[in-house]
Amino acid sequence: MIQPSSQVLVRSEIKVGFEEIIGQDLVLESLKRTIKSGEIGHAYLFSGPAGSGKKTLALLFAQALNCRNDLKNPCQQCLSCRKILSGNHPDLYIIKPQGASLKIGQLREVKDSLYLLAVEGRKKICIIYDAELLTLPAANSLLKILEEPPQDLVFILLTARLWDLPPTVVSRCTHFTLTPLPGEKMKQILGKYDFSLPEEREIIIALAGGNPGKGLEMASRGGWENKYKEAFLLVKSIEDGPAEDIFLKAEEFSRRDDLQEFLELLLLIYRDRLVLKLSSQENVLINSLIQPDNKGRVESSASTGKILVKEEDQKNTFFLEKICRALMQLQGELHHNINLRLAMEVLFLKMRGAV
Ligand SMILES: [Zn+2]
Repeated sequence: MIQPSSQVLVRSEIKVGFEEIIGQDLVLESLKRTIKSGEIGHAYLFSGPAGSGKKTLALLFAQALNCRNDLKNPCQQCLSCRKILSGNHPDLYIIKPQGASLKIGQLREVKDSLYLLAVEGRKKICIIYDAELLTLPAANSLLKILEEPPQDLVFILLTARLWDLPPTVVSRCTHFTLTPLPGEKMKQILGKYDFSLPEEREIIIALAGGNPGKGLEMASRGGWENKYKEAFLLVKSIEDGPAEDIFLKAEEFSRRDDLQEFLELLLLIYRDRLVLKLSSQENVLINSLIQPDNKGRVESSASTGKILVKEEDQKNTFFLEKICRALMQLQGELHHNINLRLAMEVLFLKMRGAV
């Protein structure tokens, strides 16, 4: 089924061409060279995690292939660029999963149109979201089209799970991987947000893992400093508070909708403590809410009213590393159907040093 693309094209922030994509210089250079050369392939594959910019890049590529003003960078001004942006270009097709898969019927629905010449643009573009969800018959149908592709047709497949795509499809595509961005680039992307505390930005950068979409989404939600504080106080309470509270807290936290994020915050805290033990270097800490003094001890930051950690960390590196591992393991298990309450009890008991 052809989806009205306006839903995904509500991107009023697009004002520029490929410069909008930050930190993927190699990919952009290669795409620009392709466009300039005029030797356009019939199938491209953009892979990278959700939020890495695949959809944005696909639309920019579609615009560039049809822009009337520029040969390698979409102008955003011409009728073609604007139509693609608004989802009204007659040569743009966007296919998204129906339910849990991309079905052969969805390809059949557009197949005849794809064999017709482009109506307005130089190229017909067919963007397939979540291409890993192509059913086997749908993937075979796509391969059939690619065996004898219409001259002006360009497929752009997007996937966050490259490994789930049939190798026969991958091998037919020119493949570009969107890599995680380094911290400096993430800072640049988050620059437009006015954080009340710079630490909040650092926390987001750490949690987003180089994923610009995730970082922007987290920044728009806000409140990360408070969440971090809550996680920090939980750690203190589990490690030093009354033992009987552990089970109550395990039940309470197992019900949280944001458990995955909360576990990531806990991981940041233990990771920072481990780093402090090993190096005492403030600049390698993910956040600066916990700061070592000039003797390498964790010092309070009372002047800013932040979390106070006056005493030197009593836990050894073995313990801190063990908790980091336990947190990472639990994060991986959350997607499976595990008993959350039991899992949180075990985690908290480990944090307590009881197991
Ligand atoms: Zn244009």
